[in-house]
Amino acid sequence: MRLISACLLGIRCAWSGDDKYKNERAVELAKVKTLIPICPEQLGGLPTPRAPQEIQGGMGEDVLDGKCKVVNKNGQDVTREFVRGAEETLNIAKQFKVKEFIAKSRSPSCGCDQIYDGSFSGRLIEGDGVTTTLLKRNGIRIISEEHL
Ligand code: SF4
Repeated sequence: MRLISACLLGIRCAWSGDDKYKNERAVELAKVKTLIPICPEQLGGLPTPRAPQEIQGGMGEDVLDGKCKVVNKNGQDVTREFVRGAEETLNIAKQFKVKEFIAKSRSPSCGCDQIYDGSFSGRLIEGDGVTTTLLKRNGIRIISEEHL
């Protein structure tokens, strides 16, 4: 059983409220495999559409360890919602005995290997998003959408 970032299947949960992150390879995979779509930001209680958000001063593991925050482009702290969304995603993963997560690249929630640096300027740094980090810590294998 696999989880997948819901936006990759064209579900309109992206911050922009449209299906801009739809990945045709993910859509094709969903025709032959059971994939459970989740959006940690919605599970954490954030609205759609919403302002873009980035981790500031670190990466997902720093957020989970209480060392830095996630803020949106309006300067609002959304750390609590991000952590809640990660925990609820893990809850789903445990209930369905999920072993893998197909992750949207570069997201502050679902990103793996690279995320934006918190300056809202498009610069990338090495690191994982908040949900990806929590799933990894619990033994779930992460597959980037770019490797589908
Ligand atoms: Fe997609 Fe994850 Fe962002 Fe939701 S939180 S829109 S699933 S990348």
